[in-house]
Amino acid sequence: MSILYNNEDNVTPNTNDDSFNTTTVAGCTFRQQTIDHLDTIERQLQHPIKSEQVFSLSTNLCKYGHPQAVGLHPTKGPKLVSGLFRLSCPLLCEAIDTYENEGGVRQLSDWLRIKDKDRDRDDLDWKQNGYQAANEAQKNIRMELAKDDTNKLVQKMGEYNAQRFLSSGVAGIPPSQTYNVKVSRTPFDLDIGV
Ligand SMILES: [Zn+2]
Repeated sequence: MSILYNNEDNVTPNTNDDSFNTTTVAGCTFRQQTIDHLDTIERQLQHPIKSEQVFSLSTNLCKYGHPQAVGLHPTKGPKLVSGLFRLSCPLLCEAIDTYENEGGVRQLSDWLRIKDKDRDRDDLDWKQNGYQAANEAQKNIRMELAKDDTNKLVQKMGEYNAQRFLSSGVAGIPPSQTYNVKVSRTPFDLDIGV
């Protein structure tokens, strides 16, 4: 993947500017994407993309000034996208590859399943609760973004599947799922689960 960016070393390292515009979806604030980043995002995702398909960028850019992750609109592209966010920076994807190869994602899933005995008794489920909150946020963001396209969704996939699509959690998993870590990155999605 880094071949795509073999000229990055010649680029002046980016100093992250904090003068970007923001956009709010379902109560969550994101860095708004700008037209300047579209070419980069196309190269990162390795397919053409229209401005309306990208609703947000990672707040921080990588050291070369490129988005590290993008928020993909669920219904504005040629294909429906249930996983809203995708890691896009090749450097970051490579680092995640290494982390996965070292068993990091498996370790994170294991960590999620362990209740911390030294926590407050009322707070034993804090990890699951946090995951559930993330699932809930993703569902709300997806629903708000797709609210004008629900008829199109129902026509395409039927009422039942359209509901499932809209109400899924992080990276398109069922909302009740709070035990498996899932990594969504380009150029392919990788599901880590049991
Ligand atoms: Zn980068």
